[in-house]
Amino acid sequence: MNVRAAFPGQSRPAETEDERRVPYRHPQPAESPPELVIPDAVPQDERLWVPQTEDVWFRPLCLSATRGYWQNLLRVRRSGVLSRHRHPQPVHGFVLKGSWRYLEHDWVASEGAYVYEAPGETHTLVVDEGVEEMITMFQVNGAMIYVDPDGQVLAYEDVFTKIDMCRAHFEAVGLGADYVDTFIR
Ligand code: FE
Repeated sequence: MNVRAAFPGQSRPAETEDERRVPYRHPQPAESPPELVIPDAVPQDERLWVPQTEDVWFRPLCLSATRGYWQNLLRVRRSGVLSRHRHPQPVHGFVLKGSWRYLEHDWVASEGAYVYEAPGETHTLVVDEGVEEMITMFQVNGAMIYVDPDGQVLAYEDVFTKIDMCRAHFEAVGLGADYVDTFIR
């Protein structure tokens, strides 16, 4: 087996097996923030779920204050309409448990599904009867803009409102307001 193949189309010779095992030996860029590893992304500790509305929570993973997005788990334990919202920027979703759909589309996002939500789209999130619990990882860029059926703005969320919610919740449950700093990059 040839494990020494150079990258296709690149002129550098392949490294030997010993060379391949040498770690990068220079400092990382000074402006590069520290990495973030969360072993219990789906947490056992209930305090890490931040209440959103009744029977709806989010679990922060990466709150990017510098890039204006947030990566989180959304957990829902009720059926019905959750929100109608517009995305000025794309959203990426991966369904970990249960299922949900949008009134504007004929597909259902079920466990194991990946969903791309296009910038400019407005849609209405529904969890159907019979789904006891839905958990989806979402990367939301920019903002969630909550609207009425005509697109009139009712409210918004961005990474900064999410940080504020986390801070207040973590303080209230005894983790301390600063616990949110774990997730901010
Ligand atoms: Fe959406």
